[in-house]
Amino acid sequence: MSLVVVGSMAFDAIETPFGKSDRIIGGAATYIAWSASNFATPIKQLSVVGGDFPKEELQMLEARGVVTDGVEIKENEKSFFWSGRYHLDMNTRDTLDTQLNVLANFNPVVPDSYQDCEFLMLGNLVPAVQNAVIDQMKKKPKLVVLDTMNFWMETAMEDLEKVLSKVDVLMVNDSEARQLSAQYSLVKAAKVIMNMGPKYLIIKKGEHGALLFHEDQVFFAPALPLEDVFDPTGAGDTFAGGFIGHIAKTKDISFENMKTAIIVGSAMASFCVEKFGTTRLKEISKADIDARIQQFVQLVNFDIELV
Ligand code: AMP
Repeated sequence: MSLVVVGSMAFDAIETPFGKSDRIIGGAATYIAWSASNFATPIKQLSVVGGDFPKEELQMLEARGVVTDGVEIKENEKSFFWSGRYHLDMNTRDTLDTQLNVLANFNPVVPDSYQDCEFLMLGNLVPAVQNAVIDQMKKKPKLVVLDTMNFWMETAMEDLEKVLSKVDVLMVNDSEARQLSAQYSLVKAAKVIMNMGPKYLIIKKGEHGALLFHEDQVFFAPALPLEDVFDPTGAGDTFAGGFIGHIAKTKDISFENMKTAIIVGSAMASFCVEKFGTTRLKEISKADIDARIQQFVQLVNFDIELV
């Protein structure tokens, strides 16, 4: 049984108030795999890259238990490229450039060896491609999680609606939840979105934490107040990796366990933002992760006596 991760593997160019990167390795599925591989392996990666994508990056993932048989390499084409600039608050950013390149005609073929998929993490990608992956799964996975973004709401809403009707968990940020539901209140937005298909909804609020909704229940996970936030790129994907990694490790898809999973996701995201790109995720150890999760426990732990 395995965890299948689908999404972009890319080059990014990032500008933050603290610095500027050249073309560095990024992509939703890259961050998800680096994060999730701390908890559950094997991870079966499904993506597409151009001939320009460094082979060593794939080898580093393989060394961590990420299977890359499903990463198609189009030697004569260029990898997906994304560029963004963060505002001073680091919570908002402008996309400066999106070059789909290999993603434009990506026709994913799920290898037979991926058909044992128990947990399917559909990272940010063209909704029609996310849909095609679900449709190729011969057996319905135990849990299907979807991440998406405003770009697809604006350019592929019909396909997005189709895929939403087939997933169990949706992850979006607060502005995307408002855009998708046409509701300002996040509680009302959650109701509208859960009527579109997902039974669980995770709304990420950057440095203000994340909310988990299911039926009439809601749970809040804070973000760790950090002294330095260097680059928030990939924080959402890293969060997704921690979430699905914990679920795949424990094989428990209850609401109670999802609460723990969003704490794990938040802890992983807190590492991601400390350095540019995937740098920090490549450095951290199991002991670092355990210590960070413990900091979350301290952050929200209090006694109260009701009078
Ligand atoms: P996040 O900061 O978690 O939203 O994720 C940023 C990552 O998503 C970057 O590494 C980009 O390469 C990737 N990305 C940005 N736009 C898209 C898109 N339209 N489709 C797929 N991946 C994207």
